[in-house]
Amino acid sequence: MFDFEKRIASDLNSRQAEAVTSTEGRVRVIAGAGTGKTKALTYRYAYLVNVLGIDPANILCLTFTNKAASEMRQRIATMVHSGDYNDFVCTIDGFCVKFLRKEIHRLGFPKTFSIIDEEDRKSLAKQCMEELGIKRTEKTVKEFLGQVSSFKALDAYIDTYMLPDVVWSDGMLVSPAANYIHRQIKNYSLDFDDLENFTNYILDHFQDAREYWQGQLNYIMVDEAQDCNTDNWQIIEKLSAGHRNLFVVGDPDQAIYEWRGAKPDRFVQFARDKDIILDENYRSTPSILNVANSVISKNLNRIPKDLFTRRPEGRAVIHYHGKSEVEEMEWIVRQMKLLMESGARPNEFAVLYRASFQSRAIEQELLNSRLPYTIWGGTRFFERKEIKDCLAYLRLISDSGDDLAFERIVNVPARKLGKKYLESLKELAREERGSLYGTMLAHAEEGSPAAGFVALIEESKEYARKALVSDLLDRVLDRSGLKRMYREDQDEDRLENIEELLQSVRLYESQRSEDDVDLAEYLQDIALYTNQDYRKDTPTVKLMTVHQAKGLEFPYVFVIGLSEGIFPNMRTIREYKKNGEEEERRLMYVAVTRAEKALFLTESEGFNVSTRMNKYPSRFLTEIQRNMFVTEGYVPEDLWRGTRNMMHVLDEESFHESFERERSEYMEPFKVGDVVCHSIFGEGKIVGANKESTTFEVRFADGKTRHLRAIFLRPADLPE
Ligand code: ATP
Ligand code: MG
Repeated sequence: MFDFEKRIASDLNSRQAEAVTSTEGRVRVIAGAGTGKTKALTYRYAYLVNVLGIDPANILCLTFTNKAASEMRQRIATMVHSGDYNDFVCTIDGFCVKFLRKEIHRLGFPKTFSIIDEEDRKSLAKQCMEELGIKRTEKTVKEFLGQVSSFKALDAYIDTYMLPDVVWSDGMLVSPAANYIHRQIKNYSLDFDDLENFTNYILDHFQDAREYWQGQLNYIMVDEAQDCNTDNWQIIEKLSAGHRNLFVVGDPDQAIYEWRGAKPDRFVQFARDKDIILDENYRSTPSILNVANSVISKNLNRIPKDLFTRRPEGRAVIHYHGKSEVEEMEWIVRQMKLLMESGARPNEFAVLYRASFQSRAIEQELLNSRLPYTIWGGTRFFERKEIKDCLAYLRLISDSGDDLAFERIVNVPARKLGKKYLESLKELAREERGSLYGTMLAHAEEGSPAAGFVALIEESKEYARKALVSDLLDRVLDRSGLKRMYREDQDEDRLENIEELLQSVRLYESQRSEDDVDLAEYLQDIALYTNQDYRKDTPTVKLMTVHQAKGLEFPYVFVIGLSEGIFPNMRTIREYKKNGEEEERRLMYVAVTRAEKALFLTESEGFNVSTRMNKYPSRFLTEIQRNMFVTEGYVPEDLWRGTRNMMHVLDEESFHESFERERSEYMEPFKVGDVVCHSIFGEGKIVGANKESTTFEVRFADGKTRHLRAIFLRPADLPE
């Protein structure tokens, strides 16, 4: 018996071992989270190499994210002789790139073709729209790109436009998608749609290429197959048609990419010679698993299955309710510190959230507490482009000599003050030994773009003298055109981040007991968050979205911001109704099943940036059986009522209407003339209402008028 076969017998259970040794034909492993699917897949790779003597060049092993692929390569490396694995352990797009480097010459592209990312796609789209005279008011960049994508999905665009012998006429360039493609071809660049489409095209049209790859890839394995889309399946089926050895692994309960075209049904209906079902979970304690089973059992559209574990009971799952977001974050960090006192290390903690804007709150708390953290698959909040842009505006308003801030935003959004202008301005500033902004101010000609910018900054400086920082920021976002720019791009993530920043300034102000917060002081205070150096080699807390966490596991998991509208995400439910709710629930199942030793579910009261409503605890918390977790913190009954209202929306009426109704009820609790109370500024009278930004103008006893969100106000006759 080979050593490796002994290892299989000792490390795996009998069904996993069967999956490993069933190497021929079409085999499927279908099983819940943490049952050792990925483990079986990596052992199978090593078995093919170590025991059957298959050359790794003949094995294709596909996973979903780059992170998962690199983890899998590491796992495999420990089991096979060094050098006995290669880059055919990759994502499907990664494979397409390797395939195309070799084959794309058939379509007249050089093998050094470039790949364009999302940002490049947007700038291409903008160029097309400008040339074709399509106004942003008619069509957003996102809509334009959506059109290009669906064109590429339906049309035989490779035949019509992308082959070397295509002759371009002016008439062809009138079509938006063709115009876009023409620009692409000029630079021999492919976008992500093309990678898979080209691969499929070559496999269909060039028999020798198809036969070569079919002959080459004797064994194909696919992890997370429930999230493959139609193009993925076509590529996989074509490649495996030669040897017919296809091993697919997945969990329909973890299908979380239907919004991006994943087809979990193809995994469920996969034509197979053998099916292997695993039901023992090795990852999590029974209390965590109970919660997971309880959550997912609420989905109607699923094949029922329950997982069990033989791990010892472990800690109870905790739900924490905070009176404010700050309380929620402080509680989380306190738990981390307690765990560290009993030996846990920071890198054993993962903080998971639904949307990336949510990282801001926990990042600030971790920074305050000097706990190092890393964001996986994303950027730290204060390093995000749109946040840096907002702060650069504030910095320039506060200090005209801040050249860095000036350079950053003078042409954001584009206002004809581009590179050329900046170069000549720098030259002039050098001669006159002035700051960039000062020089601009001195030389701006009436009616020029420079004069427009100067007017914006000067007016803002004036406004800043008497206004709250949050109002200033709100105004700058509007008047500079920043907000409009992101709105036109339909860049929801960036808009949410900006809203979150604004909200955090308001929070900051409401916590200050002094008089108005001064701009310079605010900028100094947040410099703590913006100028962080952090060492890459120290063990760090991991922060990531639930989507990023797929397939991974961590000893201690905090799922944060569990409020209605955030998780489940309001937009998903609005757009996809019941199916959307079920996909969100699967996402919750993925989140919960990442935890090995302990699970913390947290949420808090306050204002929800993305729904612009009060926060209510997530419906998912109400769906877990009461005896399966303990709650810390008191949840007032009216909050649960809020949750139930939100849940019923699904069955009763159009989402939009009821969300809007809730929102307006919430947004207009006061009218001009009402007397209200603020926790810091005391009693005041409403003198104006701004429906669009949902704030009220309140005149206080100190004679000052402040713009405040309704949520920070209460009727004066109510006791605190
Ligand atoms: P997911 O659905 O989240 O992708 P999975 O089914 O791929 O999960 P794995 O990541 O392969 O699960 O395994 C989960 C954990 O259980 C890992 O830590 C793995 O090492 C461990 N494990 C898997 N099988 C066994 C086994 N037979 N004996 C002991 N531990 C195991
Ligand atoms: Mg896995």
